[in-house]
Amino acid sequence: MSYTNKELLNSIGLAYGELSLKGKNRGQFEKKLRNKIKKVLEGFEYTLFDDISKPYLFINSEDLDAVTEKIKKVFGIVGLNQAAKVEREDEQIKEKLLQFAEYAYEKGARNFKVVVNRSNKGFEKNSMEYAKELGAHILINSPFEKVKMKDADIIFNVDIRKNVYIYTDKIKTYGGLPLGSTGKGLVLLSGGIDSPVASFMMAKRGMRLNFVTFHSFPFTSKQALEKIKELTEILSIYTGKARLYSMNILKIQEIINEKTKKDLATILGRRAMMRLAERLANTMQYQALITGESLGQVASQTMGGLTCTNAVMEKLPVFRPLIGMDKTEIIDIAKDIDTYEKSIEPHEDSCALFAPKHPVTNPKLEDVLVEEEKIENYDEILDEIFNEKEYFNIG
Ligand code: ATP
Ligand code: MG
Repeated sequence: MSYTNKELLNSIGLAYGELSLKGKNRGQFEKKLRNKIKKVLEGFEYTLFDDISKPYLFINSEDLDAVTEKIKKVFGIVGLNQAAKVEREDEQIKEKLLQFAEYAYEKGARNFKVVVNRSNKGFEKNSMEYAKELGAHILINSPFEKVKMKDADIIFNVDIRKNVYIYTDKIKTYGGLPLGSTGKGLVLLSGGIDSPVASFMMAKRGMRLNFVTFHSFPFTSKQALEKIKELTEILSIYTGKARLYSMNILKIQEIINEKTKKDLATILGRRAMMRLAERLANTMQYQALITGESLGQVASQTMGGLTCTNAVMEKLPVFRPLIGMDKTEIIDIAKDIDTYEKSIEPHEDSCALFAPKHPVTNPKLEDVLVEEEKIENYDEILDEIFNEKEYFNIG
């Protein structure tokens, strides 16, 4: 139950996160962040301005929550507050505070605290004195009878700048770095729970992302690809416009199935995927591959499994942001970013097609290399697959 009268609010104060650490690059980062804010707020009426180096959005009250939801998803912002902007004038501040107080009391708050923050040193009174004065004003003129310094029912924050902003709650957001500020990555996106979460994690660190998915049509259906497109669509809320590449790896899977030991099929398939992904990354100038692997989760994600898949990489790094996470932690993030429900919809998995009943749980690279040697024209097959790739622009 909120004690805050939303109708009084007309602004959102933004806290930029690690940007403050970025020294000379700060200007660039801020520009990226501003552009992103402009993009997500297309269609809303607002002004974005700095008030003594703190960015504020000024908006219509009725758009407040919708705008907040959009802003929450912009990486680089660590927190925000929904505030009432008034002029830096004692009467106005006091009057607005009383409106906050009366509503809060009516909704059941029985004690309060006033916190004053004074960035504008030109303001006559010091913060402590002024907080006391405002507290007294509320006690005298509203039904409140009690100030409580610790665990108050409601805190009235008064942020004094060129203008004055009154707010009650601080909202924590994702943090991270502005999109596009740290490089470009290519995500290997399957229909499962993990790779969408891995995408989110790297986008949060400022990477601009595109996606590649592997299928085995006609053994995997068109609907399976539709599902991946829909996942990319959800992810584009965080990544912005994105491109999804799709490659049919059936040819190589069939040959692996025919020529090599059954129990290594999954690893050999994963190696083919990594090779194709690195090739795509090189041609499109992506600087890293990203997967949803987590240590020990399945047979192909043991130390041995990861060693075998990683060994095909020629020069790009592979980022595995979920490597140290438990499934439950991954699921919590998937729910939070809204990919979970889509991920758990049933789909045929390209990997599952020729999946051995008993995959080797800790494959050795030597054994894998011996098996791979048995595949003739390996590179030509990859060329064919690569040349037949399709793509879809999403978001
Ligand atoms: P996910 O939940 O992302 O499907 P998973 O737990 O099922 O992961 P694997 O199937 O072993 O794990 O896949 C490991 C990683 O390899 C995935 O997170 C993804 O990055 C990549 N990957 C697997 N299959 C595909 C595919 N068909 N297309 C693209 N990437 C894939
Ligand atoms: Mg999978």
